[in-house]
Amino acid sequence: MRQILCFDFDGTLVEHGGDPEFHPELRERIRAFRAKGALFVINTGRTLRETIQGIGSHGLLIVPDFIVAAERDIYVEKGGQWKDFGKWNKVARKVHEKFLTEHKRFFAHLTNQLKLYTKARFLRDDSGDTGIVSATSEEMDGIVTYLEQHLARLPGLGWQRNGIYLRFMHRDHNKGSALRELAQQVGASPSTIFAAGDNFNDLSMLQTSVARHIACPSNSIPEVLDHVRNQGGFLASRPASQGMIEALDHFFAKKDGITSPES
Ligand SMILES: [Mg+2]
Repeated sequence: MRQILCFDFDGTLVEHGGDPEFHPELRERIRAFRAKGALFVINTGRTLRETIQGIGSHGLLIVPDFIVAAERDIYVEKGGQWKDFGKWNKVARKVHEKFLTEHKRFFAHLTNQLKLYTKARFLRDDSGDTGIVSATSEEMDGIVTYLEQHLARLPGLGWQRNGIYLRFMHRDHNKGSALRELAQQVGASPSTIFAAGDNFNDLSMLQTSVARHIACPSNSIPEVLDHVRNQGGFLASRPASQGMIEALDHFFAKKDGITSPES
């Protein structure tokens, strides 16, 4: 059975302003897992381009086998180019277009509400990326509460939140459903999957039904720390990549060198 090591990027692999931002020992750990056939996956809210830039600028010096970008699209590297992995992205884009059309009126209403009552901004770009950026995390808490009140009459309405950023997406699309799809395609089961993240948008993949081995770095938001604790996952005592070294050691490394639980 294939093993997958799936990490969120910002705050999980990389600690902005940290010293180092990415710990070289984690690179060595990941390389050792890969030498045994494990797949290294970055699952992020960043776009594909931002992810590739981030891998370079934060000194990872290790290219993942797969990138899940914008919390939805799965990419694989082939001959130096990042390509759609299977049919998932095409289907997901269609679902997203339909989702935006179906909720057009609500988004117009929401834009007005935000203008009237908040300092937050409604954003939409040419690629169909639609979301909100708020002035503070507390303000975003209030916006999310407001959105939750509308869930019942807006079927399919979903969003992914990362601090003061929120991206609207169909309820069925998130980091968790993308990881589940990827696992199915490469022949991995939850029992062989490790997943780690630090913010709201990671919660969908930090589920034991998706990944049996779940972890979060010490810098995670309280909601993620509580969630991982309740699921019986691993809470690292250190931030970002240093915490990830602890997490991999906790789950896998101490048995006989670096090994996967199934090998
Ligand atoms: Mg993060």
